[in-house]
Formats: sequence, C-alpha cells, structure tokens
Amino acid sequence: MDLPVEEWKSYILEKWALLPKSVQVTISKAETLSDIFLHSSSLLQPEDEMFLKRLSRGYLVGKDPNAPLFYREEGNKKFQEKDYTGATVLYSKGVSHSRPNTEDTSLCYANRSAALFHLGQYETCLEDIVRAQMHGYPERLQPKMMLRKAECLVLLGRLQEASQTISDLESSFAAKPTLAASQFQILQRTLCRLKMKIQKKENLTETVSAALTKAFEDMDLREENKQISSASASVSLCTDPFKGRYLIATKDILPGELLVKEDAFVSVLNPAEVLPLHLGLESKWDTRVTNGDLYCHRCLKRSLAPVPCDGCSYAKYCSQECMQQAWDLYHNIECSLGALLLTLGVFCHVALRSTLLARFEDAGEVTRKLCGDISNKDTRLPESKNLVQTLSYDLGGESEKNGKTVETPIPGCDINGKYENNYYAVCNLLPHTENHSAEYKFLCALSISALCRQLEAASPQALMTGLTSSKLKAAMAPVLCPESSIWGVAMLRHMLQLQCNAQAITAIQQTGSKENIITDSRQVRLATGIFPVVSLLNHSCSPNTSMSFVSTVATVRASQHIGKGQEILHCYGPHESRMGVAERQQKLRSQYFFDCTCPACQHGKHRTTAEPRWEAFCCCSCRALIQGDEVLSCGNASCTESVSRDHLVSRLQDLQQQVGIARKLLRNGKLERAIQQLLGCQHDAESFLSAEHSVVGEIEDDLAQAYAALGDWQKSAAHLQKSLRVVEVRHGPSSVEMGHELFKLAQIFFNGTHHHLKSSC
Ligand SMILES: [Zn+2]
Ligand SMILES: [Zn+2]
Ligand SMILES: [Zn+2]
Ligand SMILES: [Zn+2]
Repeated sequence: MDLPVEEWKSYILEKWALLPKSVQVTISKAETLSDIFLHSSSLLQPEDEMFLKRLSRGYLVGKDPNAPLFYREEGNKKFQEKDYTGATVLYSKGVSHSRPNTEDTSLCYANRSAALFHLGQYETCLEDIVRAQMHGYPERLQPKMMLRKAECLVLLGRLQEASQTISDLESSFAAKPTLAASQFQILQRTLCRLKMKIQKKENLTETVSAALTKAFEDMDLREENKQISSASASVSLCTDPFKGRYLIATKDILPGELLVKEDAFVSVLNPAEVLPLHLGLESKWDTRVTNGDLYCHRCLKRSLAPVPCDGCSYAKYCSQECMQQAWDLYHNIECSLGALLLTLGVFCHVALRSTLLARFEDAGEVTRKLCGDISNKDTRLPESKNLVQTLSYDLGGESEKNGKTVETPIPGCDINGKYENNYYAVCNLLPHTENHSAEYKFLCALSISALCRQLEAASPQALMTGLTSSKLKAAMAPVLCPESSIWGVAMLRHMLQLQCNAQAITAIQQTGSKENIITDSRQVRLATGIFPVVSLLNHSCSPNTSMSFVSTVATVRASQHIGKGQEILHCYGPHESRMGVAERQQKLRSQYFFDCTCPACQHGKHRTTAEPRWEAFCCCSCRALIQGDEVLSCGNASCTESVSRDHLVSRLQDLQQQVGIARKLLRNGKLERAIQQLLGCQHDAESFLSAEHSVVGEIEDDLAQAYAALGDWQKSAAHLQKSLRVVEVRHGPSSVEMGHELFKLAQIFFNGTHHHLKSSC
C-alpha cells in the first residue's frame, strides 16, 4: 500500500538486475538525489511506461455511466432488507459514478435521503434532498420527497419550515392535482402527532459525536510555544550531532498534559483493501465497503453521505466545502491521475501532494530561499542541472556544503529560529539517502519519473493556477518547468523521507459486518501523513507519551510524569508490549536505520531469564523450546540443533506477512482460500514457534473466524479453543482479553446450537 504494487516493484527490480554493472555502480555511488534521479529516470523506457499504464487500468477510478443504475438497484435490495447503512453506501457509490446534473445523480441522492431518514440522520437527509433537487430531480417524483423533507423538519423541530414545505406542496397540488387528498390528511395528522413530541428527537449518536468533537476542539494547548508552532510551552527544541533534533521538557509535565496538537502538513487517505479489478472480482462494479467510501478524502471525517468529485468516481468528501478545498489545493492535478497513484502507492501520492501544497506557501522560507537563490546568487539564467543542485542543497543540504549561505542553528527553523508546520520544515526531514538500498532508490526514482511524465502530459499551465503570490509564481516556474526535473527530485526526496517520517493516522473501527457473527473493534490506519512537529520526537520502545487523532489532527499527551529536562519520546511502532527486544531492534534498524538504546532495549538485552512463552521459538527437529541471545540452542539435552536469532526473526516476519495475506482474503470473503492460506501458516508456525506463541494464537483465531463464516461451528470452536489457550498464557485467566475470547466462544456455541436445531427441524 505504501510502496508501488507488487507487479511494478518486481518489474523494476528485474530491470535493475539486468542493468550493466557499471550503471548499477553509478547509481549506487551517486551522492545527491539529483544524480540518482537523473541517472535513473534516463533509463525509463516507453515500454516501461506502457507496462505501468496496463497495471493502472486495473483500477476503476473514472465514472462509468452504467454503474449508477447497478448500484441503485443493489442499494434498493439492501433498503428492502432494512439494511439502511448498506443501502446508503451503495447509493453513494452510485452517486460517485454519476455525472453532475443528471437524473442518475438526483435519483441516487433521493434514494440515499430515504435511507438516511430511516437511520435517523435527518440533517444529512435534508442535505441530500437539496442535492437531489440541485441535480434535477424529476417533477413526477417530487411529492414523495417533499413529504420526507417535511417529516425531517418536524423531527428536527423546525416547524415553521415544515409548515412552509407542506403549504408549498398543497398549493402545487391545487394547481395540478395528481395525488390523492387522503395522502395529505395522513401527513397533516402525522404533523400534529409529531408536533407534540418534537423535542430532542435528534439522532443521539450524531449529537454525541458532535459534542465529542467540540470538546476536543476546546482542548487547546494551554500556552503555545513561541519557538515551535503546534507545541506546548512546556517543551523546547534541541539538537545534537548524535541524536539530531529532539524535544525536552522545560518544566515538570503531568500525565495527560497536551504537548503537541498538530494538523498534518499533508495527508493521503489509504486506499484500504481496494483490489485492482483483474484480481478476481466477480462483478465489474465493487459493492464492498472500504475506508475510501466512509471517510472524507480531505479531512478524514466519517460520513455516510459523501459528495463525490465531479471528475472521478474515486475521491469523495464529507461536504461541498471539503471537495472544493481539495480541488483547489491538489485534486485538480490528481484527479486524472487516480489509477496511476493507486498503482504507485501511498508514499508516491504523499510525495506528489506535498509538492502541490508547497505551491501555496507564500512568504515562507521556501519562497525566500528559492527567490533569493535564483535571483541573487546566480546572475546567469539557471540551467536545470545548476538549479537542481541549488534545490537539493537548500532543501536539506545533504550534498556538499559551500558555506556561502548562512545556516540557521537548527535545520528546519526560519531565520528567527522558529520551527513551523510548513513545507520548509518538511523539506528538512531526513531522507536517509545513504541508508536506502540502491534498488529501493531506483524503484522510487523510476516511479517518480513515470509520474513526472504523466504530469508533463497534463498542461503545466494548470499546475500554476491558484498560486497566491506572483512572487511565488516566478519562483515556482522553473520548479514546475518540465525540463528541469527539479520537481522530480523534490518528490524523490519526500518518498525517501517517508520511510522514517510517515505517520499513520488511525481511527477506532468496528470490524466484522452484520453477517459476520464475530465482531471486534480495532485500530485501523486511515491515512498516511507528514507532521513536521511530531517528527521531531525520538523513539522509545516504552515512550512517555501517547498519540491520538481526530480528523487529520494529531495530539500527543504525556502518558506519565515527565521531569524537567527529560526528553519527550514517542513510539514509532515497535512497542515493548507488542514485540520482543530482538524483533524491535531488527525492525528499527531496517526501517529507521538506528540501534535503539532505550531503557526497555538496554534492559531486554541483558535479560538472563528466557523469553516469555508467547514469544518463544522451538526447535525445528525436536520441538523443544530453544533459548539464547544471538544464537539459540535447543533445550533438549539430547539434541544439538542451534540457529541464529536473525534467522528466526526473519522467518517470523515472513510468517506474519503470510498471515496478513490470509486476513485480506478473509476480509474479502474468500473463505476457502483464506483457510488454505491459514492452514499453511499454521503448518509453518508449528515448525519453529512455541505452541503458545502469540502468532500461533492469532492464526487459530483467524481460522475460527473463517470456519464460523462458513457455518462450520465445530471446527470454529476447536480453533478458538486453541487460541484461547494462548490468550490465557499471555494475559492470565481473569484478564479482559480472556473474557473477550470466552465471549466469542459462547457466540460460536450459541450459533452452532441454533444452527443444529434449525437443520434438525
Ligand atoms: Zn471533509
Ligand atoms: Zn476527481
Ligand atoms: Zn528500544
Ligand atoms: Zn531439538
């Protein structure tokens, strides 16, 4: 999802392998991003672009004129089954495929308003009625919708508007009586009845979530930091040659204190599990619900009634305002590139969007630097090569220093030493160019240059529209000039930065649909963003802060007392409660390029006791537990087996990847294939993991779900019992987790009995 799709990845890696050694060396040895980019992109051939185009064709992101009818009918089926949420989502898909101002659009909106009415979402229902009318709802169907409108207004306590709507209707009928008078009597009666119990009939959940959002918005930083935007005055920015930049407490901080509240500089909604069409979808039109259907593509608010982009079927927004903003900021460029961006992955997309957003920063450091450097430093007209160097030097200065420009004391800060959430700060995040493998850099560079060629095909003039200042326009002109490829270098830089600096924006979501007996809530990754201030925090496997999100805003709070002078730390992912020390170290080294020396890791390394059973490995030949630090040897005295920890950790990672594939199949309802995949995983797990390993438990749990979905309650229960054992070992018999598992087991037994009774009748 972050990286390009598998097919393109392996295509490019094969291309890399076939390059002459000398070319490989040139690219591997290249020190600047511009060199890497120029060398790589010169190797991009038309047939490579053709291959990429073919892959992109698998994503249906345009508007298909035949789809609205299909989705409307599917929606109507759900509506009849009283699954109003399901119906709403399908009508939304219908809207996405309709052209503006067509009967299709208006019918989808009208049907959706009916479903929303049943869900008690009266405000949203009214909005959809307005939308249906705007797009030309047919005259003959008007009365029904007007009745619904009046009912909504009554339920919302807006009685005057309700009466107005009714009298409008009455007079239109007096003019051309097509509807029986009895219908009106019914409505009048309803009106009287409803008038009496209007109060507080608003949808409860709407009110609650609105109140929560309000409460959240009210919770602002007590005192804003003068040096760092979006941070509290209790922290301060420091730098040292070993650690780089980091934040420390300038006073004692209490648990729960808000330390950072930052809106993402850029964020891109993750396309969840959208599979390209050629991967075995039965119907041409997808009826499955993904995050892309439920969350606003700009602000990430959850919405059952999104409005789609006029130009594509992919982008959807919570409101007209969000749609317009997204369009002005970036979607005007991205709209026609939807399929390509899905193929190239989220990192590529974030990289592009960052540069598009950069166009709107006026008066910032970027402008100053670009304008200053272009007009003053070099009097001659900059040729592309020269400008590339200027840019790659100024935007982070990882190439040779010439000492001509005055460096601010801390990278990313402006001349006054202020660090802000802006493009300049984004550019100063480390891309770790020297740490990435040559193949990875080649993959990123070719993906970006393929994207650049598509952008060049679009009018460069379009890229300039909407720029606020003419000064900036002048500054950006060479950047956006197709020949210069500076744009590509900037995007390549962002793509490489993302491996260490991408922040997952998460939300708590209910999983499992109505048909699924086992439901669960889990944290899901909604989007990928860049938060320049949050990025200043260093990692610890036992951090002293916790992070949460509302919309695209991240908040970091102290999770414990932090003494004055202590560093503020957060966890990049490998938390000590989720992973053993060796696995954490390996992950941090491969993804973030550092050796973690946090107290949890220090302590873990010198640990003499064996690891807990839910993290233990077993011998591949005799299945006894194996122990040790770097090299593990079999605990069975008569066995001489030994194996390196690195080997086991990498096997575990492979296994987890396989389990991930199985889950994807499970989520997509491919039950038989999911079970095959899971049984394979189970077989593999048995050969090197302890029987109580947490991954073994997860596999059993997934198998239980898959069998339950197939209605095979006996098998389901058997697997759940095995998973239960692991949970008990890990969390204890009286833990919440254990309670949760037991509840699932009860559900299965109940369903099994129920099923059994039904079939024996
Ligand atoms: Zn929105
Ligand atoms: Zn669009
Ligand atoms: Zn650590
Ligand atoms: Zn052994």
